[in-house]
Amino acid sequence: MPGATIATFTSVGEVRRRLIAAGFAMRKAPGFGQKWDMLTGTLGDATSPGTPPAANDVESIAIIGAGVAGSLLARNLAERGLHVTVIDQAQEAGTAASGNIQGALYVKLGIEFNDQAKLGLSSLLFSQRYYQQFGGEHWHPSGLVQLAHSDSEQDRQNRFIARNDYPSAVLQQISPEQVSELAGIPLTRGGLWFPRSGWLEPGGLCRDLIEHERIFQCFGFDVHRLTPCNGKWHIAGNGEQDVVVDQVVICAGHQTPDLIPLKGGFRFRAIRGQVTHLPAKAVKCPDVVVCGSGYLNPAHGGMTLAGATFDLHDSSPTLSTESHRDNLSMLDAMVPGSVDRDSGDVDPAKLDGKVGFRCTTHDYQPVAGPLVDAYGQPLEGINLFTGLGSKGLSYAPLLAEYLADRLSGQPVCLPGSLAIRVATGRCHRVEITEQETISA
Ligand SMILES: Cc1cc2nc3c(=O)[nH]c(=O)nc-3n(C[C@H](O)[C@H](O)[C@H](O)COP(=O)(O)OP(=O)(O)OC[C@H]3O[C@@H](n4cnc5c(N)ncnc54)[C@H](O)[C@@H]3O)c2cc1C
Repeated sequence: MPGATIATFTSVGEVRRRLIAAGFAMRKAPGFGQKWDMLTGTLGDATSPGTPPAANDVESIAIIGAGVAGSLLARNLAERGLHVTVIDQAQEAGTAASGNIQGALYVKLGIEFNDQAKLGLSSLLFSQRYYQQFGGEHWHPSGLVQLAHSDSEQDRQNRFIARNDYPSAVLQQISPEQVSELAGIPLTRGGLWFPRSGWLEPGGLCRDLIEHERIFQCFGFDVHRLTPCNGKWHIAGNGEQDVVVDQVVICAGHQTPDLIPLKGGFRFRAIRGQVTHLPAKAVKCPDVVVCGSGYLNPAHGGMTLAGATFDLHDSSPTLSTESHRDNLSMLDAMVPGSVDRDSGDVDPAKLDGKVGFRCTTHDYQPVAGPLVDAYGQPLEGINLFTGLGSKGLSYAPLLAEYLADRLSGQPVCLPGSLAIRVATGRCHRVEITEQETISA
């Protein structure tokens, strides 16, 4: 029940974090007897910590970052009649992690139908419907197969199917013969078939999304600092005039932590990934997206895209021959014989591709909502939308809808349990001994 209060003798960080994750705004208070500190708290409204502003309270909104997160949110707000300023350090939208020429629309659903699976499934179904308006342009609903690419994955998929009862329009388990027939190339493994999924052109999508009369584009603006002043946020760049707004949404992907105006770290991690562009004539391209240990897309414009590497200990932004080799090895294992290795067109030293950085969280779940401090207290006017990991194309439309609901004062589209699942408070890294303060 919103407004319920709680008090506990302990001020241990783990307890505080779990209570914040359950929707409480917590405060440290003087303890009793030998205890210096204790915790008290109040349960927020059923949807998440903090109360959405009424629509007419929102005077101005700035979104920092024009990847899929920022672009989808900007478009959503603009279509609700709100004016939005989109700020990005790049010269156009969709250049960072969202800048690949092809991206697969997929989620990996867990065996247990828990909140994580509910969020993944809701995001997938919502995004499949949302992208329909871009069909044939940026959205290609070819269907997608998640191969049972190893014995352990086969076992996982068998248990997943035995435990759940998804409609066949959502997914179904299929044999190696069925996979081969759908993909149009020989494949030796069966898998899970998602008939309504497919692939996107995310970079082009972002650029189209922000073309709207109520979206003001502010490119080449490298945000350095967010400062509160008289109830507004001042967004400062490198010498440009500050942008001053009531609400800011930080959608800066892996660079988000640099912009959060709080002391103390956040549990975000940047993970490098490289995709490889392959000439379609040198690859047996599938008719559907094939995912397994990596993914291979249908041919488009004479090319296909395969990827992506997960380079945990590499932060280089430049293309690496080694990563191309890794992607080709992945393809050899996942779709044996798909790459014509004798062709001079697949020399790893000469291949093109793209490097990007995923923004992941400690629990691999996305982040969307008002920024709260380490005690769950909302920081007025600042929101985060990031942590999309390697499934941003699926998560982003539903979470953009959720944040737009919040920012426009509408009833939110996520149930309370899922709003809490994506809330920002769970991502504070460190045990704070003093109340966090704005670092401006
Ligand atoms: C190699 C690779 C392959 C992937 N493949 C898939 C896939 O097939 N399917 C899928 O669903 N997901 C995939 N992903 C993940 C997906 O791309 C991301 O989840 C998604 O693009 C993240 O979008 P975003 O908007 O949060 O971040 P980004 O796209 O990174 O956008 C962040 C934006 O913020 C801007 N910015 C940052 N700091 C500042 C600042 N200080 N001032 C101004 N602007 C700033 C950046 O310029 C950038 O435009 C892949 C990721 C990688 C790296």
